[in-house]
Amino acid sequence: MTTANPMLHTPERALPRHVAIIGAGTIGPDIGYYLKSALPQIRLTLVDVSQDAIDRALQRCHDYAKKAVARGKMNAQQAATVTANIGGSLDYGVLADCDWVIEAATENLVLKRRIFAQVEAVVGPDTLITSNTSSLPAARIFSELKNKTRATVTHFFAPAWRNPAVEVIAWNKTDPAVIDYLRWLFCITGK
Ligand code: NAD
Repeated sequence: MTTANPMLHTPERALPRHVAIIGAGTIGPDIGYYLKSALPQIRLTLVDVSQDAIDRALQRCHDYAKKAVARGKMNAQQAATVTANIGGSLDYGVLADCDWVIEAATENLVLKRRIFAQVEAVVGPDTLITSNTSSLPAARIFSELKNKTRATVTHFFAPAWRNPAVEVIAWNKTDPAVIDYLRWLFCITGK
């Protein structure tokens, strides 16, 4: 049973230390920038199959921070902290110590299932796995996961770095504590 008010939840799980976003295309980097600006101490890794996409995504994060400083929304020190510890990789091996993997790759069921199998082969048993799918049901995309209790859909809305809406799907295989944790985490980080 999840709590009606996410802020009343007291999570057992700690804040994430290393978050990875799979898919550095249109929305992936924006989700990453939201997380880094809300939780600057985390390490963020963007994983893609295209080095070009990764390079553009890293540049975008720096450009957002630069613009925030120019507009007086952040000082230079804050911008330096937000943009520190953001990396990119073509290798899923970097996911090994992630606490949370957010999939934001191309909207394709077969591809997403393949990505989750790759992720699950590398991460630890407690790593959260969420998908930003806009149209695929959780039960379908996660059907082949070995451990479904730590997986759900977290659907962001563009522009994800500043749009406060995120849908957290409470499907029947996710541990309710994971739903409570995600809703709490989104609330305390401005969503
Ligand atoms: P996009 O096409 O702009 O980017 C997808 C990225 O995924 C590309 O950079 C591509 O190289 C990468 N990719 C493909 N296969 C990969 C793999 N095996 N491993 C790692 N990366 C891989 O797509 P997008 O618009 O950013 O959407 C991503 C997801 O987010 C989709 O599921 C989409 O439905 C959802 N979504 C998008 C928006 C939006 O505003 N763009 C809003 C809500 C939800």
